[in-house]
Amino acid sequence: MATLRFNAIKKTLDRKPVEINEVERRSELFGKNVFSKSAMRQYLTSDSYKSVINAIDKGDKIERQLADHISTGMKEWAISKGATHYTHWFQPLTGSTAEKHDAFFETVDENSAIEKFSGQQLVQQEPDASSLPHGGIRNTFEARGYTAWDPTSPAFIWGTTLCIPTIFIAYTAEALDYKTPLLKSISVLDKAATDVVRYFDKKVNKVTATLGWEQEYFLIDSALAASRPDLMISGRTLLGHSPAKGQQLHDHYFGSIPSRALNYMRDLEHECLLLGIPAKTRHNEVAPNQFELAPIFEEVNLAVDHNSLLMHVMEKVAERHNFVVLFHEKPFKGINGSGKHNNWSLATDTGSNLLSPGKTPTKNLSFLTFFVNTIKAVYENEEILRATIASASNDHRLGAGEAPPAIISVFIGSQLTQVLDELEKVTDGKLSPQEKTDLKLNVVGKIPEILLDNTDRNRTSPFAFTGNKFELRAVGSTANCADPMTVLNSIVAKQLIEFKQEVDGLISSKKMKKDDAIFNVLRDYIKKSSKIRFEGDGYGKAWEEEAKGRGLSNYRNTPEALQSKISQKAIDLFSDLSIMNETEIKARFDIEIEDYSKHIQIEGRLIGDIARNHVIPTVIKYQNVLIKNVKGLKEIYGKDFKDQAKEQMNIIEAISKHIAHINKNIDQMIDARKKANHTEDPVKRAHLYCDEVKPYFEDIRYHCDKLELLVDDELWPLTKYRELLFTK
Ligand code: ADP
Ligand code: MG
Repeated sequence: MATLRFNAIKKTLDRKPVEINEVERRSELFGKNVFSKSAMRQYLTSDSYKSVINAIDKGDKIERQLADHISTGMKEWAISKGATHYTHWFQPLTGSTAEKHDAFFETVDENSAIEKFSGQQLVQQEPDASSLPHGGIRNTFEARGYTAWDPTSPAFIWGTTLCIPTIFIAYTAEALDYKTPLLKSISVLDKAATDVVRYFDKKVNKVTATLGWEQEYFLIDSALAASRPDLMISGRTLLGHSPAKGQQLHDHYFGSIPSRALNYMRDLEHECLLLGIPAKTRHNEVAPNQFELAPIFEEVNLAVDHNSLLMHVMEKVAERHNFVVLFHEKPFKGINGSGKHNNWSLATDTGSNLLSPGKTPTKNLSFLTFFVNTIKAVYENEEILRATIASASNDHRLGAGEAPPAIISVFIGSQLTQVLDELEKVTDGKLSPQEKTDLKLNVVGKIPEILLDNTDRNRTSPFAFTGNKFELRAVGSTANCADPMTVLNSIVAKQLIEFKQEVDGLISSKKMKKDDAIFNVLRDYIKKSSKIRFEGDGYGKAWEEEAKGRGLSNYRNTPEALQSKISQKAIDLFSDLSIMNETEIKARFDIEIEDYSKHIQIEGRLIGDIARNHVIPTVIKYQNVLIKNVKGLKEIYGKDFKDQAKEQMNIIEAISKHIAHINKNIDQMIDARKKANHTEDPVKRAHLYCDEVKPYFEDIRYHCDKLELLVDDELWPLTKYRELLFTK
């Protein structure tokens, strides 16, 4: 009997929801473990407080001496909350977070010690991080890397450790993390957007990009997950026949949340709130055991940190509830995958959302300016945006018969399509006073404050306007949002800079009025970018054909898609804006292409091992049972035994055939892997893994899954789909 599987099922069935204690109100919990503005006011001198606030708001440098005061205040606050250690907390290019804890502790002499945390320790550290990915940057120059405090993301306490968000850079200042380019893109975008918004509102001095992510995930009982080596190691099932019932009855989405999962969520939200992550929404997703958590949106740098932190916290809290969290984009074949929608917008320091229509024609012209510029930016750089969401695991979602597709397009809804159609008709050159009045009254002025049309919105578009924000839906559930957000900020910044130049050019050379110039440039942009707009159903052959005709890219796998990351266009984009230089861009590409090959390599080894060590021995055992049965029948029935033993003999033969196919495919896959491994060029290697190794997975799986249906359930060692998905 398949002991591990049945023990796991029994354990799962015996579990009770883990009791949790919700005593405090959520509003009171919020930010309790964050060194927030109010904590700073309490623990810092007014000079230190001011210098941190100026660093946050204006990017001012913090003086050494004040840094000592700040670190002391931060330490006192942290110790009052029970912290014993501190760490610089950063996001290296592994995709997860990194930390190294040091105690607030220093000896004075052999008998006494004090708690110490200096300004230097707060501001900069030199972790030995030679094992973190660097894409060759630190090999060529220096092995050292630095972490440096990012005051725009507040320090927080997790467990008994004070965590200080930092950037991570090489000795030679190249970025080795996700945060550094993100912060640069934020400030470039701020400048570009502020310059443009001041056409409409002189009171604005700062524009902030905002992000509200929606994190999808699966929860699987830890005992069940432990019985599946594929899940434990690769985060997805490489084998498993689909269950009789999947998600076809749509009875899970928004359904009542199972009680064990609900208690997990309550516990998780408690931790989130303490850490200042404004968790707001929880619900069941489309697939069984699939859920979503969404917070209130925040400034993009903070939101990115919060998402990285959340993923870590989710795993920790899951341990208490005997769950394993699956972040993989496609843990189960034939079952809905997971994504991480990135809702993005622009907010001014005067409290206005630049992507939200308003009450006045001026506000709406401002709205249209940012709206059209964003669409144009996406049109001009669709392949760079596509590259940023490419990964081995997201390949199972994008373009693999599941929304969103691998083609980037923009959905805006019928109301705004109408508005853009009207604007396209604007006169070339100076506008007559009548035309202008008409535009303001009947086109710009008629945009409803709330865009009802979008409530009934298209669900398959990878980049959709949803009333007051754009929603990039193609980001994978395992991804760090920093990379797509850096790209989005950068392309929109570049676009806004060009827009400003064009409008100013028309004003000065053609002596146009400001509004005339804006209408002219917008008309031009709407025309130029119309190919990226698509209101239809975002996947399927028809759209692929149409998109091809429109000249839109359609990269179906990561090695192909990643290439756009190192195109001259991408290098120019990031280096012109001083967000990343060529070395940094290429280093990131090298890491990602290598990461792709490693992923497929690991999955290839796993599926080979599981098929050979779990599946084949099991089916041979069952085949022996059948053989014994056939022999027995022969003993009883003599030469007529075949009438009685026909079905058993068919199964015996079928098993042998499947075993032969599996073995042949594994051998061939191993040869293909060897060929890939012996290929020096990492790009060629990734393509070999994609085109030559990966296709074997499906063949091997097909025969294993057929065997799962043939063999005695009692013997099958791998927990089945129905058990993984429906045991609550
Ligand atoms: P869904 O896409 O699931 O229907 P919503 O339309 O309610 O959900 O979107 C919710 C997400 O949008 C939340 O994560 C929220 O924080 C985010 N969001 C709302 N307004 C903004 C904004 N101005 N900027 C960025 N994100 C926003
Ligand atoms: Mg969404």
